Amino acid sequence: MAAISPPRPPSLREGGERDVSIGTLTTKDFAALAEGEKPFVILLPVGSVEPHGPHLPLETDTIISFAASRRAVDLLAEAGIEARIAPAVPYGVTDFASGFAGAVSVPAATLTAFVAAVAKAYLEAGARHVCLVNNHLEPAHDAAVRAATEGFAAGSASVACPLTRRWARTLSAEFKSGACHAGQYESSLVLAARPELVREAVRETLPEVAVSLSEGIRAGKSTFAEMGMASAYAGTPAKASDVEGREQLELLAEMIAGEVTEALGVARVG
Ligand SMILES: [Zn+2]
Repeated sequence: MAAISPPRPPSLREGGERDVSIGTLTTKDFAALAEGEKPFVILLPVGSVEPHGPHLPLETDTIISFAASRRAVDLLAEAGIEARIAPAVPYGVTDFASGFAGAVSVPAATLTAFVAAVAKAYLEAGARHVCLVNNHLEPAHDAAVRAATEGFAAGSASVACPLTRRWARTLSAEFKSGACHAGQYESSLVLAARPELVREAVRETLPEVAVSLSEGIRAGKSTFAEMGMASAYAGTPAKASDVEGREQLELLAEMIAGEVTEALGVARVG
């Protein structure tokens, strides 16, 4: 009797007719990219392991970084750039979520040193540029990721993060309100990227939590609990949709392509 293979769950590469992950290449494949005519660029997804309400997975931020990177590979290909997605750095500085089950935080200096070492290794292996794609927005984490690009030659490393004002203003109204944790914005993104991971029956019943993380941070609050996010989310997850998620993913991909092409001095068409 033929072996029955289990149904394959939709993967992060869903919709991708070709594999764009570094992790599945052979050494020979990698060498061909490094020695190729086109600029070879590494997109390094960065996230965190932390609670995202009762409806989204702990690895939400990495899922968003990967999905946006996946689309950015296509946008960069249109600009003549061979981008590939490196195995992610899924752990980050997650002190805001302390007290919640599943929050795993690493020291900022450790994250900076680790991400810098990975970026340096890719540059030494032949990449022209490494873009750190970060969607975990805790200020100490953002600073630690940005610090990892210091010391590299001009144009060889960048950060694509929606905290950067010019990209933030392109995103949804909820995101701009500061209610940017596990609400309508992030729930929509996960619905678009990994719908099988969203607890839909729970999400649809969640009441709005009208908390702005940016205002809370300005007021000196440093945990979700202090901000009044008793269930580790803010905003309106019940209003999320995969249509909105695809729109926001496209904008995050534009952000990545923008950072990379600017750093390389490559013009984008269209
Ligand atoms: Zn998140």
